[in-house]
Amino acid sequence: MDIAFVGLGNMGGPMALNLIKAGHPLRVFDLVPAAIEAARTAGAKVADSPKAAVAGVEIIVSMLPASRHVESLYLGAEGLLASIAPGALVIDCSTIAPASSRKVAEAAQARGLRFIDAPVSGGTAGASAGTLTFIVGGSVEDLESARPILSAMGKNILHAGACGAGQVAKIANNMLLAIHMAGTAEALALGVANGLDPKVLSDIMVKSSGRNWSLEVYNPWPGVQENSAASRGYAGGFGSALMLKDLGLAAEASIASGSAIPLGELARNLYALHSAGSGQLDFSSILNLYRKA
Ligand code: NAD
Repeated sequence: MDIAFVGLGNMGGPMALNLIKAGHPLRVFDLVPAAIEAARTAGAKVADSPKAAVAGVEIIVSMLPASRHVESLYLGAEGLLASIAPGALVIDCSTIAPASSRKVAEAAQARGLRFIDAPVSGGTAGASAGTLTFIVGGSVEDLESARPILSAMGKNILHAGACGAGQVAKIANNMLLAIHMAGTAEALALGVANGLDPKVLSDIMVKSSGRNWSLEVYNPWPGVQENSAASRGYAGGFGSALMLKDLGLAAEASIASGSAIPLGELARNLYALHSAGSGQLDFSSILNLYRKA
């Protein structure tokens, strides 16, 4: 199937490579020329505008930073939706506000297009390995049309509900992730400040009731895990500014529904303090807020 892929950053880049590996002819577009190089080398056609990327393709995948980028791509002055062939399926994998997602879905459907939100979990390692979890909002029929494409980039494809529901589930998940990452950093810093080795403490907590994904798979202390973002100076990975964005989405969702999220708000404030100056560093660098010089 001919596919257009827009947004080849830390996540979109490796996801696009997996589509090429699975044999899909790919047309790619990103605002930053350097972002497209790996896809070009792997055989993707490089489009010189979003319109040129989407013209005539059956599937459009987008992986952009935030709501404003997705709204501006699909609903902006360029009128991209009008350039997409009727019946084509738009798969937006960005993590954005559910309301933005529904807005784009409605505009797409009004033009005879199909739309699903399919934000992902699994990080840059999952994107490279093709083991992402896709959390889908949209109709069952559209999810089934997307399944062969999503399967080339991930291993779990979960249906959350109608359009926008994928975003709600993703936002709830990332709020929990921020809370247990901050908690893990806090516990490790406490142990180290009291004389423990961070690896020894991690090994103990992984086999105890403090066990969690941040500790076990994405340890924030440099050197505890060879391949963690922490062990490469927090470069690449999932930026702290993006985590702050997701916590802002959780706060908006809590206001819309009258839900209390005291720990989510605390995590959002920690990431707001931390992101000033460290926004590009992986979100596990929240450890630096706790670590003694
Ligand atoms: P990124 O900043 O590395 O990449 C975004 C890319 O989009 C950049 O290359 C940028 O140039 C491009 N872009 C922006 N506006 C564009 C436009 N109008 N047209 C074309 N390209 C445009 O971000 P990322 O880490 O790849 O994250 C993308 C999305 O995935 C975010 O919503 C993020 O929250 C989510 N996410 C990220 C991770 C992670 O571990 N990095 C994990 C899960 C979900």
